[in-house]
Amino acid sequence: MRLTRLYLAGFKSFAAPTEILLPAERVAIVGPNGCGKSNLIDAIRWVLGESSAKQLRGQSLDDVIFAGSGQRPAASQAVVELSFDNSARRLSGPFGAYDQIVICRSLGRDGQSRYSINQTRVRRRDVVDLFLGTGVGARSYSVIEQGQINRVVDAKPEDLRAYLEETAGISLYRERRRETESR
Ligand code: ATP
Ligand code: MG
Repeated sequence: MRLTRLYLAGFKSFAAPTEILLPAERVAIVGPNGCGKSNLIDAIRWVLGESSAKQLRGQSLDDVIFAGSGQRPAASQAVVELSFDNSARRLSGPFGAYDQIVICRSLGRDGQSRYSINQTRVRRRDVVDLFLGTGVGARSYSVIEQGQINRVVDAKPEDLRAYLEETAGISLYRERRRETESR
């Protein structure tokens, strides 16, 4: 499974619709300080369901919406889309049969987040569920940030276990059990 495309409009510094194709196994994004490299990473974690403003380096959740600049008015909504190549069928569930899976999240000034998978409106948890146990996720090890290695080294045993369980693909079953028990 590979991330093949990232699309942003009105997300942080990406005011204008921007499509970034990731055609190779390895892609490096370079640029001067403040050009938006980390904003791209924030965008990936945001579509995957990140719901903490702090994790997205903001004060409040609507800080992800383009705030306006000298020449451009503020955006009314933020939209981010991720496209995954699923031809190897790594993703299962209701959308598992598709070769390409497109996840979209948008947020308007009303504070409502809307999620879709392949144009079908879904809940946040459907997006989270789709990736559980794959290592891809808003807080998963597929995104390694500055300082994170130190956090793993210094992690409490329970947090370390969460990393290991995600790697082993167990977290999906733990989540299912939690759901069943809470019914
Ligand atoms: P560095 O190399 O220093 O890590 P970077 O390329 O990672 O830089 P980012 O942190 O991605 O840079 O981008 C920071 C820029 O994004 C800042 O100029 C900030 O003003 C802008 N920015 C963040 N949120 C918004 C927003 N909601 N509206 C407009 N601009 C924003
Ligand atoms: Mg940065």
